[in-house]
Parts: sequence; structure tokens; C-alpha cells
Amino acid sequence: MAHTESTLPLKKLQGKVAIVTGGASGIGEATARLFADHGVQAVVIADVQDKKGQIVVESIGVERSSYVHCDVSDEKQVKAMVDFTVQKYGQLDIMFSNAGIPSKSEQTILNFDFSQYETMFGINVRGMTACVKHAARAMVEKGVKGTIVCTASVVATNCKGGTNLTDYVMSKHAILGLVRAASQQLGVHGIRVNCVSPSAIATGMAANTGLTNEGVQMVFGPFTALKGIALTVKHIADAVLFLASENSAFVTGHDLVVDGGLISLPHKLV
Ligand code: NAD
Repeated sequence: MAHTESTLPLKKLQGKVAIVTGGASGIGEATARLFADHGVQAVVIADVQDKKGQIVVESIGVERSSYVHCDVSDEKQVKAMVDFTVQKYGQLDIMFSNAGIPSKSEQTILNFDFSQYETMFGINVRGMTACVKHAARAMVEKGVKGTIVCTASVVATNCKGGTNLTDYVMSKHAILGLVRAASQQLGVHGIRVNCVSPSAIATGMAANTGLTNEGVQMVFGPFTALKGIALTVKHIADAVLFLASENSAFVTGHDLVVDGGLISLPHKLV
């Protein structure tokens, strides 16, 4: 065998059981489909958009996919989702903690709205933390050397990607802290924890704020190194697949930025 040839099977997730939160739409949906293409034994789609989630499950195939209604801001529902997965499929190998919401409106620190912040932190921070906690507990309990991937954002490190989205920027900074702390604590159990940080992409979330693919490309394109290439959900799903698979066996506590080499955006652009 040539030394450049991979010894890993093409189907990188054969026999693995995965949960994808926010799997009914956007990045989560694309990743759940890619996991299925890579041979997962089962992928559990967790979301609050039940109809959309069921459609994703049916298109993957009900024999190896299930839908669970789970509002990640409620820890009890998160625990129930993990318990359901372990009871139905035997164990949990991969948690893609991805569900999140955008800022309802721009807010600077001068007009900071704490009720908007509480909703944001309930989903983007408490929700992701609950998913990491209960996935890790299920893995430790079964002795599974699993992988956990969270969705952060370029705004977790490059604040100019969302200057006035103060609550969102804060929530994504918190995810880096979560990933770094949890990766240190869980390494002893053979569990890896990483995050993926996309730049702007016109998913359901962005569309709700009026963002289109063309709009994203027009606004962000000139500031990326890979000019002319628009970010797609597949680019992000591929990065998550890497972090979820054995291909990244020695990678933990890492923030994998998927932004085409975006440099700081001028203030007022976003
Ligand atoms: P999306 O709106 O298409 O998908 C988000 C999914 O999360 C939806 O299906 C939604 O129903 C679900 N969700 C929302 N609140 C939930 C809750 N309380 N419990 C369970 N599910 C819930 O948007 P997306 O862009 O695919 O977002 C996925 C992740 O990517 C989010 O964490 C987001 O912050 C992050 N992100 C998005 C962008 C972007 O520009 N779209 C950029 C960087 C990071």
C-alpha cells in the first residue's frame, strides 16, 4: 500500500451511534445526512421543528434514524434524548451539539437587553452545555471513547464578524470555554471534545434575518482568501465529520474554523 493511502474505511462512521441537535435544518441537517452517508448505525435528529425533523429522518431511513423532540434549553429533555438514544441503539458514540439561535436584534452594551440575553444563553450556552454533559455521562457510563463536537462561530474569536450582536458573540465565546474545559476533563476517558466555527451562511437561521446566499457572498466574499467560493453547509458538515471520526483521533480542545480565510470585517459591515 502506498504510504499516502488511508488505512481508514471510506465509510468513516460505520457502526457508530450519533445525535445531531438542530438536525432538522441547515448545518445540523447536512451533517446528519453526511453521517448517514458515512455509515452510522443510527443518527438521532433532535430539534423543536418536529415536521422538518421527521422529514429528515424519513429521507435517511427510519431503520437507522429517529426523531426526538428536544428543546435543548431544558436539561430534562436533553437527558431524555440521550437516554432514548442509549436505550434504543445501545450506546452513544457521537454528539453533535449544534442547535442554536441568532440574536433577535442587534444590541450594543449601551442598550443591552437582559431578556434577549437570557433566551440566547438558555439555548446557545446552557443547551450546548447540557448536551455535552449528558453525552459525556452516557459515554463514561458505557466506557465509550466517544467524540463531542459543538458548533461555535467565527464570532467566538473574531468579534468583527458580529460586532453589535453582543449576546450572540458572548454565547459563542462561551462555547470555546466549554470545549476547552470539557476536553481537558474528558481526555482521561478517551472522549474528545472539539468545535467547528463557521462564518456566515444562509441557513434557516440566517434566512430568518433576510440573509441570502448571494447576500452572504457579496458581503463576505471580498474579505475571504478563497474568493469566489461560497461557504456551503457541506463544507461545515465535512469539518464535523473529520472531528467526529477517527481521522481526528489526536485532536481535542480544538476550534476548527471554516471561513475561507476570512479576515477581520470592517466595522458596520455586519
Ligand atoms: P438553522 O436555523 O438552519 O438550524 C438551527 C436548528 O436549531 C433549527 O432546526 C432549529 O429549529 C434548532 N433549534 C433552535 N432552537 C432550538 C432548541 N431550543 N432546541 C433544539 N433545537 C433548536 O441554523 P444553522 O445556521 O444551521 O445553525 C446551526 C448552528 O450553527 C447554530 O449553533 C448557529 O449559532 C451556528 N452558526 C451559524 C452560522 C450561520 O451563519 N448560519 C454561522 C456560525 C455558526
